Amino acid sequence: MDIIIASYQCESNTLATHHPGKEDFEYAAGDAVSRKLAVTELFEREGFTVIPSIYADALPSGTVEQDIHAYYSEQILDTVRANPDAHGVFIFFHGSMEVDGIGSGELDILKKIRKILKNKSALIAISLDAHANITDELCDYADIISGFKTIPHVDQAECQRRSAEALCYCLKNSVKPYSYMQRVPFLLKNDTVQTGYEPLKSLIEETKRLESTEDILCANLFLGHCWIDAPNTSASTLVTALKPEVARDVAKELAVKLWNTRRDYKFTVEAEEPEECVKRAIEGKERRIFITDSGDNTTAGAEGDTTGILELLLAEKPEKKVCVAGITDFDTVDGLWSCADGAQVELKKLGVSGVVKAHGKVLGWTGECLGRSLAVTVGNIDVIFTDLRSSYTRKESFDAANVDLLAYEIVVVKLGYLFTALKPYADRELFALSEGSSCVELKKLGLKRILRPMFPLDEFEFDPYK
Ligand SMILES: [Zn+2]
Repeated sequence: MDIIIASYQCESNTLATHHPGKEDFEYAAGDAVSRKLAVTELFEREGFTVIPSIYADALPSGTVEQDIHAYYSEQILDTVRANPDAHGVFIFFHGSMEVDGIGSGELDILKKIRKILKNKSALIAISLDAHANITDELCDYADIISGFKTIPHVDQAECQRRSAEALCYCLKNSVKPYSYMQRVPFLLKNDTVQTGYEPLKSLIEETKRLESTEDILCANLFLGHCWIDAPNTSASTLVTALKPEVARDVAKELAVKLWNTRRDYKFTVEAEEPEECVKRAIEGKERRIFITDSGDNTTAGAEGDTTGILELLLAEKPEKKVCVAGITDFDTVDGLWSCADGAQVELKKLGVSGVVKAHGKVLGWTGECLGRSLAVTVGNIDVIFTDLRSSYTRKESFDAANVDLLAYEIVVVKLGYLFTALKPYADRELFALSEGSSCVELKKLGLKRILRPMFPLDEFEFDPYK
């Protein structure tokens, strides 16, 4: 039996201005796809023949334009057209891709795949990010749906395998699974929602317990993604089970529990205005303090090009060693690239002069080189400029820029919550409530197309049984 595998991901942010181009996608085709996905070995071990399509994953960005969506989705559809008798399809999506004029990119592809597949008992299994905004129709087109159980995300591989294992089980036993989504009409400040803390910690444990029961293949909580202005933007619960009534009942039970937690999400670190964060970082006694510039969070689709916190630091002239990691600025990188390390340079946009510290690379999610970085020292501040949007989520990102993360006492990154891989280097975290397209204040986002009522914009009672 044959299973087509693919991945196509770009978390959208409708407030962000950069629409992803081909250069923003980490791309692979053929056998390289098999190596990038965590399911190949599992399928082969279970006796299935894997047909790799494409792997195209981009950093979160503005909405995906139709021509870019067509470019990648057609490649996946071509694989299906060439293998219309496939028994299964596995796709690792994000779940919050918004395509201009189309809506959910994932739903669009799934609908088209269904039309091409000749084998009407073929099953489609997908894996999604925990921030997926689920459309009402998703379960009509995907049979098996698994979502991440960790925020920050560290279980991508496990999540893919959960869906893949369910797919193998159903195909081998000629079983038809059922998925049911229950919308939960709340939208949270994304960065307050983390699975290491209550109330989510216990709810995630409950999904694991449910999955250990015989009838339930996947029990998911999707927390939604507040930076997309679309009708499917909200939290939801989604269950894949062997009986339709089990999928429905368990999704509704989980929905009630999730809804009841809606007032319990809080920041787990100090969350303050940028000025206060800079002040606390300079005065703090800890060995290394991170400031996350949450309004310009590239992992939430923002540009990563604002210099507000950098300017606050420049004005303070701190005695501490500071690194500001990942300011998107093609002109500065390109314009100064030919200057040798140690050369005196002008940073025109900031109106200051500095010294070139290091030439380096920008790393993608899986460690490949995406672009160039140029670190420039101004006083005690090293600024890493990048020629495209970047995310400094782990020490390797700093290594690739040829700067030593361990040398700094204050580190500013374009993130919301600090990624798990950076936590060991942070003795204290300050969450800057900065402005920008990934601003965490829902009321400031001006969402017009979302369903109403929606908590916390509206106060109302919600009952999934009505
Ligand atoms: Zn996510």
